[in-house]
Amino acid sequence: MNSKPSITDLLRTNIKNIKPYSTARDEYSGIALVNLDANENSYGSIDGSNNHRYPDPYQSQLKQIISEIKQIPQNQIFLGNGSDEGIDLLYTAFCNPGVDNAIICPPTYGMYKVSADTNDVQCIEVSLTQDFELDVPAILAYVNENTKLIWLCSPNNPTGNLLKREDILTILQNFNGIVVIDEAYIDFASEKSWISEIELFPNLVVLQTFSKAWGLANIRLGMMFASAEIIAVINKIKLPYNISGLVQEYALQILTAHTSKKDEMVQEILVERAKLAKDILLIPGVHSLYPSDANFILVTMDNAHEAYTYLVEKGIIVRDRSKIKLCENSLRITVGTAQENKFLLTTLTQFYSL
Ligand SMILES: *Cc1c(COP(=O)(O)O)cnc(C)c1O
Repeated sequence: MNSKPSITDLLRTNIKNIKPYSTARDEYSGIALVNLDANENSYGSIDGSNNHRYPDPYQSQLKQIISEIKQIPQNQIFLGNGSDEGIDLLYTAFCNPGVDNAIICPPTYGMYKVSADTNDVQCIEVSLTQDFELDVPAILAYVNENTKLIWLCSPNNPTGNLLKREDILTILQNFNGIVVIDEAYIDFASEKSWISEIELFPNLVVLQTFSKAWGLANIRLGMMFASAEIIAVINKIKLPYNISGLVQEYALQILTAHTSKKDEMVQEILVERAKLAKDILLIPGVHSLYPSDANFILVTMDNAHEAYTYLVEKGIIVRDRSKIKLCENSLRITVGTAQENKFLLTTLTQFYSL
C-alpha cells in the first residue's frame, strides 16, 4: 500500500490557507461584567426571554456530553444543522468545483448527489450489486486522481441493509481520499458504529444524527466524527453560529435526562419492525422484503406505484422508490406505531383485493 497523502494535501486549494471569521466569542470567551463586544441588544430580548446573546460557536457543553456518550474526544466532533450540513461542508472542504469528483453507490441517500451538484462536483455513480452490497472492485477502478470523497451509507437508505465490514475496510485501506460512512440508522443496526476505527483511519469520517433514533428531526442536529485535523478544517469553514442556543440548550437537557429512553424507543421500533416485516409478507401481491437494519423496510410488490397511489388516497404516505434502479416495484415504508402499521397493512390488503 502506498503511503497516504496528508489531509492538507487533500483539501480544496482555497481552503488550505483560509482564515476563518473570528467571532466576538472567539476573541473573548470568559465571563465578563459587561459585554459590549458583539453588538447584541444589551437591554434584553423583546419578549423578556434570555435570547439576546450569541450562542457558543463550538457548542462545548453539548460536545462534552456527546463526547462521553460516543467515547470520542470533543475535538473530533462537529455538530451541524442536520447531517446535511456536514455533507455539504465535506464537499466544500475537499472538492475543487469543476475539477474534483466523488463516488456514490446508488440506490442511496439523495443528498450526496444534490450537494455535489450545488458544489459543482462530479458524482461518479457505482451501483450497488443486486443484493445491495458494495461493488468494491468497480468502486476502486473508478477512483482517479481527482476523486476526493467516497460516500458509503450503512445501514443504507433506501435498502435498509448494513454494508459488509470487510468491503468498507478494503475501501478504507485502498483509497487515498476521504471515506464518509453515513450512520444515520446505526442505532437500529445489529453491528457497532465505525466511530471506534477513526483512530486507525485518518481518512475516515462518520456521520450520525439526532433525527432518527433520538426522535429529534425537528431540532436539526447532526454529528460528524473524524480526526481532530479534519474537524479543525470543518470548524474553520462552517458558519460561525451554526447551531442556535435554543437547540444547544434543548439537546443538552435531553442528553442529560433522557438517554435511556432512546434505547427503549429503539427496542420498541425493532419489535414493530419484525412484526410489520412478517405481516406484510402475508399480503397477496407483496413479494419480498430485504432484511432491514434501519427503522424502515424496503418492500417489493406487484404494481408498487399503483399501490403507492392507493395508499396516498387513503391518507398513508410511504416513499415510492419503484422508479429507482435496483428498487423496481419497491416502496420504502417507515416503521410506524402499532396502530399505524395495522392501518397500512389493512389498506394494502384492500388494494390487492380490488
Ligand atoms: C435521514 C437521513 C439523514 C439525516 O439527515 P439530517 O439532516 O441529520 O436530518 C442522513 N443520512 C441518511 C442516509 C438519512 O436517511
